[in-house]
Amino acid sequence: MKENKKILAKRKTLESIAEAAKNVFPNEFIALLGSKNKNSIIDELVVTPATFGDSFSSVYLDLLPFDKSIVGSVHSHPSDNNWPSSADKRFFKKTGKIHLIICLPFNISSIRAFDAEGKEVEIEVVE
Ligand SMILES: [Zn+2]
Repeated sequence: MKENKKILAKRKTLESIAEAAKNVFPNEFIALLGSKNKNSIIDELVVTPATFGDSFSSVYLDLLPFDKSIVGSVHSHPSDNNWPSSADKRFFKKTGKIHLIICLPFNISSIRAFDAEGKEVEIEVVE
């Protein structure tokens, strides 16, 4: 059987990510992803103290507001590459099960999703 991993995300939330990434460019945008519903649909962006930092790998985990609604993270790459670096993958393992990376030109189709192991997963956009 082929494993068909997929995450669900609200279009509005993905659009907010794109908007935020544009606003902080050329710095990296960093936030946590939240889900306030049983189906684990990503519908919330949790802005962290590190949101306007310039390196994803420098996020201080003890500053982050972890609670049950946090499902993972999102950050931007100020380039046309939306694949995780090795530092990103180490961070993913510690920070939830769903991780998004957005790259230029910062729109919904330039967002890629990964699991905690850094493997790509499909994004299903929910209205
Ligand atoms: Zn990265």
